Amino acid sequence: MTAHAPIPSSRDHVVIAGAGMAGLLAARVLAEHYKRVTILDRDRMPDNPGFRSGVPQSPHTHVLLGRGAALLEALFPNIRSEFLKAGAVPLDWPGDALWLTAAGWSRRFRPGISLISLSRDLIEWTVRQRVLDDPRIEMRTSTEATGLLADPDGTRVTGILVRQRGRPGSDHTIGADLIVDATGRRSQCCRWLTTLGYPAPEETSIACDVGYASRFYARPPQERDWRLLLLQAQPPDHTRSGMIACVEGDRWIVSLVGRLGDRPPTDDEGFLQFAATLRSPLLHQALRGADPVSPVRGFGISHSYRRRFDRMSGRPAGFVVIGDAVCTLNPVYAQGMTVAAIGALGLDAELRRSPSSDLTGRLQARIVRASADAWVLAGGEDLRYLALHSGERPPLRNRIMRPYLDRVVRTATHDRHVNRALLRVVNMERSPYSLLNPGVMLHAMQPGKAAPPEAPPLAQ
Ligand SMILES: Cc1cc2nc3c(=O)[nH]c(=O)nc-3n(C[C@H](O)[C@H](O)[C@H](O)COP(=O)(O)OP(=O)(O)OC[C@H]3O[C@@H](n4cnc5c(N)ncnc54)[C@H](O)[C@@H]3O)c2cc1C
Repeated sequence: MTAHAPIPSSRDHVVIAGAGMAGLLAARVLAEHYKRVTILDRDRMPDNPGFRSGVPQSPHTHVLLGRGAALLEALFPNIRSEFLKAGAVPLDWPGDALWLTAAGWSRRFRPGISLISLSRDLIEWTVRQRVLDDPRIEMRTSTEATGLLADPDGTRVTGILVRQRGRPGSDHTIGADLIVDATGRRSQCCRWLTTLGYPAPEETSIACDVGYASRFYARPPQERDWRLLLLQAQPPDHTRSGMIACVEGDRWIVSLVGRLGDRPPTDDEGFLQFAATLRSPLLHQALRGADPVSPVRGFGISHSYRRRFDRMSGRPAGFVVIGDAVCTLNPVYAQGMTVAAIGALGLDAELRRSPSSDLTGRLQARIVRASADAWVLAGGEDLRYLALHSGERPPLRNRIMRPYLDRVVRTATHDRHVNRALLRVVNMERSPYSLLNPGVMLHAMQPGKAAPPEAPPLAQ
């Protein structure tokens, strides 16, 4: 990526609060359009790929979807090779996957979608190193954002209020032409805006009450013909799911997932017992011969939500919200990092289109739009589970689409064409509406097609 035009004087300094994936990707892009980028985070950053408390979700499986991987490569050329050099595992989905879909086992067509499997800690660490290689970007750690500073009539945000963590009385302001909030799902941005006299944005939320329990294992020496074992739920009877993915360090990451308040236990015994209740015994059997190399860690998300910052009746210039602070999706669909990357590239496109005028509203609209497809896909599934739980009827559109989508999933287990179409949607390479293309519909609606394989299929 190269800047096309000289940077206007109104774009001197941008401050990004939050150095998770959304903040880092935005920093990469905004460095092309502002003279200086400061990215701040309340955490201290580890020297190696490792856990930090500001990203408590990092010990859980983080699948980098096909589109997300391609966008990372566009932002950071050769990053895929760097991931692989650090031990990430190349993975063809479904060729390298034992994948029990809601409709049954999927055949293992090759080539499928080419992915790489690695831990969230390694993804973020590698991206952070690349971002900090850029001399235009500075990072301040142990620095907590606490509010916004605006001009006297409150129409423009002129800075961000911060304090050094663990240093009482260290409160001060950093001035900037643009402030970006990337502090994630616990963002205080709505409070910051109402303090300035603006209404909070309209929010749509769906209860999902998803619980994760995850653990790393040493990868056992026996050869297996899969790199991903994915056992999905099958509502209404089976609402539990689990997966094993090969990751760097010759390890497996194992995540068990329950929905609607069904939290997988984090003690050794309970973890294994939960694994034994999945739809296939394969995951539990695999764990019996494997040595854990981490404790079991748990995590829960009660709601997914999407905040319409683009529809606010008024907004201050110079302030944009991105990432999970705008839209937190149910993590089982693995979309969050990809949505962050789509949003970052949306910022870039908007800033290139118009180099001088104030673009706050348009930048914000791009960010909200970045999550639109993901929300349709994840929200549709979540509403289905919610209906089972509460008896509430899903919206008419979902009720009409459900039988067709079930048919697509079933056909995808044995039809190469539909399998690819479905995986491209799941990997966010195509819109969910592409499943309505005549080519897919014709395959999916053919009567008397083969059934899914009854036993886990061998690699083809
Ligand atoms: C269990 C789980 C599994 C997931 N699995 C996947 C997956 O498979 N694939 C995928 O793409 N996505 C997945 N996600 C989603 C993904 O983690 C996020 O969507 C993505 O990382 C973008 O998050 P973010 O950068 O907006 O926020 P975060 O990653 O939450 O980062 C926020 C940052 O802001 C900092 N911060 C917070 N408050 C302040 C403050 N006041 N001042 C300064 N700094 C602050 C934090 O320290 C942190 O660094 C998963 C999420 C969960 C919970």
